[in-house]
Amino acid sequence: AYNFNPGPAALPLEVLQQAQEQFVDYNGIGMSLMEISHRSKEYEAINAETQALLLELLGLESGYKVLFMGGGASTQFATIPLNFLKPGKVGSYIITGSFSEKAYEEAKVLGEAVIAASNKEGKWRSLPKAEDLRIDPNSAYVHMTTNNTIEGSQFSYIPETGGIPLIGDMTSGILSRPIDAKKYAMIYAGAQKNLGPSGVTVAVIRDDLLADEPKHVPVMLRYSTHAKNSSLYNTPPVHSIYMVNLVLKWVKNNGGVAAMEKNNIEKSKLVYDVIDASGGFYNGNVDADSRSIMNITFRLPSEELEKQFVKESEKHNFVGLAGHRSVGGIRASAYNAVPYEACKALADFMADFQKRNG
Ligand code: PLP
Repeated sequence: AYNFNPGPAALPLEVLQQAQEQFVDYNGIGMSLMEISHRSKEYEAINAETQALLLELLGLESGYKVLFMGGGASTQFATIPLNFLKPGKVGSYIITGSFSEKAYEEAKVLGEAVIAASNKEGKWRSLPKAEDLRIDPNSAYVHMTTNNTIEGSQFSYIPETGGIPLIGDMTSGILSRPIDAKKYAMIYAGAQKNLGPSGVTVAVIRDDLLADEPKHVPVMLRYSTHAKNSSLYNTPPVHSIYMVNLVLKWVKNNGGVAAMEKNNIEKSKLVYDVIDASGGFYNGNVDADSRSIMNITFRLPSEELEKQFVKESEKHNFVGLAGHRSVGGIRASAYNAVPYEACKALADFMADFQKRNG
C-alpha cells in the first residue's frame, strides 16, 4: 500500500521488520519486551538511549530533558498551561489551524490566554509573518504549531519572543527538517507521525522550566515529576517507546534530519508540481510560501470529483488521501517514512486522473 495516512501513519518497513523479529523474544531474553518490567535493565537501557537519541537528532546535547508521557499531544494542550501559566500572566497563542485553536481553548479553561497572531480569517492559506506577531510582554510562554497537519502549512521561521519561553507543538513536523531547537523552551509531539506508533507523547523541556514544582498541579501532571523520575514515575508505554527508539535509529542511520528534509522536499515537490501545472484543476489549500513538506492539501473542482478521486486512488492502493473530515478535499501526508516511490506514484496518478476528468 502507498500509505498517506495522517496519523497513526506509515512507519519505516525496516523498523517494522526489526520489531517483528524481536516481538516474541527480545534480544534473546526469552520474553517479549511487553512482558518485562519497566524497571528492568533492558527497558532502562531503551529509555535512556531513546532520550539521548532524540536530543542528539534535535541538536540539543545539554540543558533539556526528554519526557515520555501519555494522553497524546492533546493532553499537552492542558499540561502546558497547568504547569506554566501563573496567575497574573497570560499564555500567548499563535493560531494557525485547528490544533493550535484547541491548545488555546484549553489554556482558557485554566487561565488567561491571548492570541498573538491568527490566519483564520484568511482560511489558513498563509501563515502570519514574523512582523505581524503581537506578543504580550506579560506572557508566561508563546505557543505555536510548527506544522499544521489538517491545513497543510508549515512555518519557515522561528518567532523571536524576546526571551519569553517558546513552546512548539511539532506533532506532525518533528525531525522532518533541521531546526534551531535551542530557540524553543519546549518541544512536544505525539509520536504517531514521525516518531513511532501512537501511545507515547514526547515533551522536550529546558531545565529552567522544570526547576519549579507547581504545587497546585496534581503530581502526575507536573512535568517536574516525570523529569525527576526519568519518565519512570508510573508505567510508561514500553512498546511504543521501544518503537520510537527503532525509528530514531532509522533516522540516524539514514543520514539524520538533514537527509530527511532533502527527501521530504523532493517528495512533496513531486505532488506540488502536479498541482501547480494543473491549470487550476488541483487547487492547493495553502499559498506556496506556507506549504508543508509533510501534509499536502488540495481541492478538486467539485466534491463529487474529490469523492471519485479518493475512490479511484484506493483501487490503486493509495491509503489515507481523504482530507480531514472538518475541511474535506484531499490530503497526502508524506511523513519521513513515506518513500519517494509512493509520492511519485501519487503524482502520476494525479496527472492521469486530470487527463481523464479535467
Ligand atoms: N497537534 C498536532 C499538530 C496534531 O497533528 C495532532 C494530531 O494529529 C495533535 C496535536 C493531537 O495529537 P493527539 O491525537 O496525540 O492528542
